[in-house]
Amino acid sequence: MAMDNPGGNVRVVVRVRGFLPREIERGAKCLVEMNPINQATTLHAPNDLDPANSRSKMRKIVDDKKFTFDKSFWSHDTADEHYAHQEDVYDSLGEEFLDHNFEGYHTCIFAYGQTGSGKSYTMMGTKDQPGLIPRTCEDLFQRIEEAQEETPNTSYSVHVSYFEVYNEHVRDLLVPVHANQAPHYLKIRESPTEGPYVKDLTDAPVKNYSEIMRYMNMGDASRTTASTKMNDTSSRSHSVFTIMLKSIRHDMLTDETTERVARIRLVDLAGSERAKATEATGARLREGSNINKSLTTLGRVIAALADPKTSRPGKKSKDVVPFRDSILTWLLKDSLGGNSKTAMIACVAPSDYDETLSTLRYADQAK
Ligand code: ADP
Repeated sequence: MAMDNPGGNVRVVVRVRGFLPREIERGAKCLVEMNPINQATTLHAPNDLDPANSRSKMRKIVDDKKFTFDKSFWSHDTADEHYAHQEDVYDSLGEEFLDHNFEGYHTCIFAYGQTGSGKSYTMMGTKDQPGLIPRTCEDLFQRIEEAQEETPNTSYSVHVSYFEVYNEHVRDLLVPVHANQAPHYLKIRESPTEGPYVKDLTDAPVKNYSEIMRYMNMGDASRTTASTKMNDTSSRSHSVFTIMLKSIRHDMLTDETTERVARIRLVDLAGSERAKATEATGARLREGSNINKSLTTLGRVIAALADPKTSRPGKKSKDVVPFRDSILTWLLKDSLGGNSKTAMIACVAPSDYDETLSTLRYADQAK
């Protein structure tokens, strides 16, 4: 069922994952509670003796924190009747967004959260449990097939691109990299009609689901990962998978053709954990502050877009929305605001009070 939110083009949702084996081993407690009726999410104060929350031990008084989002996805306990499967996430967000694309508008879905909170699982998923990206791709080609039978005077074409923003630099994920080769960064240009774009970015035509998945897997393999003290493969880059859906409608009566392009942006953001939590120094710390710059700006951009004061008619949104303050928001400008729909999926781990609180606060200010 699609989400009932006629009021605006910004959706902010939260998803909590189940315990990982290491969390079960240390006897972690689930601090997140979700109410399936009113969508409220509560973060419970940790028990000071819980070793999983050692950093919270010093706090004198910790209250439960309550938040309300457009939707709360309870993916903690598979045995629970309210468990939100990958399919449920797609049904309540992905479908509605694809409808919007077929009407000729852009959409953008972000996964935000600390490393290990379920961003990749939500966006990409696994072979057995595909996430939003493969489900969107599958549905896309199915809809094209159906549309071409129903409206033979409209033809469709699909292109994909996949890039990452790392340290405020852009890298093409569809260009293979060799182990001993320095990364090749692309330049950003601005066109008077199209706005900001990445120069020389691979733009691959695709005809079906398996072709699009091949590019997605190629890009994933190439994505930058760097080890930190917190997690060996913690992802330090933002990856932006873009599907361009072009429709060409031929009017038999007037012999005119109308062309529309809709961009579907699916973004897996870098881990939101603060630089200090990973004891980073030097280059890694700089990298951390660049990540924070993109994430902070993104939060401010989405908050400005969701604010009726900034998005009311007649107000020039470019004057108040700080797109230019980071590479990520600058490049996504066309897919944020205006007639575009934006969703932020805040992913949280079940037993990390500090990081979960910071993620829920970030999502809350983006509403
Ligand atoms: P991130 O991309 O935020 O670093 P991942 O998506 O890699 O996090 O998730 C960390 C681990 O948790 C992975 O092993 C993933 O398969 C698992 N996981 C995350 N969310 C879920 C979920 N909703 N259900 C089952 N497993 C999940």
